[in-house]
Amino acid sequence: MVVFEKASKRYGAAGDGGFMAVADINLAVDRGAIMGIIGRSGAGKSTLIRMVNGLESVTSGKVLVDGVDVGALGAQQLRDLRRQIGMIFQHFNLLSSRSAFENVALPLEIAGFDQAAIRAKVGPLLELVGLSDKAANYPAELSGGQKQRVGIARALATDPKLLLSDEATSALDPETTQSILELLKRINSELGLTVLLITHEMDVVKAIASHVAVIDGGHIVESGRTFDVYTRPQHDTTRTLLSSALKLPPWLSSAIKPQPSAGDRLLVRLVFFGETAFRPLTGRLVAELGADVNILAGAIEEIAGEPFGSLVVSYSAEPDVVARADRFYAETQLKTEVLGYVA
Ligand code: ADP
Ligand code: MG
Repeated sequence: MVVFEKASKRYGAAGDGGFMAVADINLAVDRGAIMGIIGRSGAGKSTLIRMVNGLESVTSGKVLVDGVDVGALGAQQLRDLRRQIGMIFQHFNLLSSRSAFENVALPLEIAGFDQAAIRAKVGPLLELVGLSDKAANYPAELSGGQKQRVGIARALATDPKLLLSDEATSALDPETTQSILELLKRINSELGLTVLLITHEMDVVKAIASHVAVIDGGHIVESGRTFDVYTRPQHDTTRTLLSSALKLPPWLSSAIKPQPSAGDRLLVRLVFFGETAFRPLTGRLVAELGADVNILAGAIEEIAGEPFGSLVVSYSAEPDVVARADRFYAETQLKTEVLGYVA
């Protein structure tokens, strides 16, 4: 649906005078997918997503939407393309002088629909986003979540096949964020809309994106199925962005030593995937090693619909204990990672 081919964007002068905001991006977003692009502030996310609807032009390479080279379009063709691409924003970008209804109606007015057609379209859209009772309210009278729902309804007004989301939940509290993400997921499955979303929050990606690309300094440093990237991050940037399960509490990470001193204990992370996530392996590990096992950190969560857990334990670094533990891991096919040693 969307293909980036060595797409780059330089702001300002060519050569050393300019600034390379995104560089050599190769990426494909499949039809019907929800793809997340995650990176910290300044990584090039907004530039990247704005290249899809031509709000930023590429300086080299290509962005193709349904096989059409966005950079090669004339002004009229670009307007036609934008009608097929909805966009939502961090700060909603609603017109304050227009009611919720009138904000959603705006793209339809621009597209030349008559009043009857607009009414027939806007009503169901407000219903879809759960705002039928707010049609006459102005943005100032709406909560952040409600404003974003208006933004979503407006983005859907011209029946786009692709929705671009630029940090659409970043200004919202966690609970509202979840409800907006659920709405996006429902729109994706019910309307078959492809969604490309950018965010700096791993939790957003984890909640709804089937695939993710990690962007850092204008480069994609890692991409793949969300579950794979999340559970087996390959790049330091990804590890830094990970929010929960794989992150150690600070007191623990600062206590880790790469080499043992006499009497130190081995620190091991156990990783639980899929259905094994809920198997009572921890109890069996304790039984196997005796009461010597300390559980230091852990979490079980759901990533793109699949369970995933991580447990950090310490036990004696004595060779016979370590051998027993390793035998247990081999038998149960538990994935483990030695993090180091602790006193
Ligand atoms: P993100 O959305 O990940 O925070 P942006 O795509 O907005 O990142 O910006 C990427 C980099 O490009 C930043 O360093 C930013 O300062 C720079 N940048 C963005 N827009 C412009 C512009 N119009 N002119 C010059 N530099 C820009
Ligand atoms: Mg941005």
